[in-house]
Amino acid sequence: MITERVSPVAPPPSMSAADAHLLELAQELLGRVWVHGRHEVATALRAADGSIHTGVHLEGSCRRSSICAEGVAMGAARAGIEPGSPLHIAAVVSVQIKPAGQYRIIAPCGVCRELISDYSPDAIVWITSEAGIEAIRAIDLLPAKTRRVW
Ligand SMILES: [Zn+2]
Repeated sequence: MITERVSPVAPPPSMSAADAHLLELAQELLGRVWVHGRHEVATALRAADGSIHTGVHLEGSCRRSSICAEGVAMGAARAGIEPGSPLHIAAVVSVQIKPAGQYRIIAPCGVCRELISDYSPDAIVWITSEAGIEAIRAIDLLPAKTRRVW
């Protein structure tokens, strides 16, 4: 575990206690599983039913086979919520360790922005921007997204 050597991100005042709990879980998880080049991002999300699910990034030997932590967490959420009920996500927090010795909330990649907003356009996604840590609706992370019926 590298947890002892990494400084946690303090939740900003604008973050609810429930979302601060997600941040805490994501940092704790990444601290347990982090391996350079293999598992560098952890996600904690809360589904609309209040259940919490986590995921870890899996790097593959050919980069295209890699899977983001957000997608892993969403699959875990799908598996964990009531069968037949829609996968609605309330909030998502993903962290990495960057720079060294410091957790950082990161924005999802473009593919994950698509995935999250497909299922839950109104999900709150926490990101670190030039303005600091802020909450953005998933759909607002993809301006001009093409809405598909699928
Ligand atoms: Zn991604």
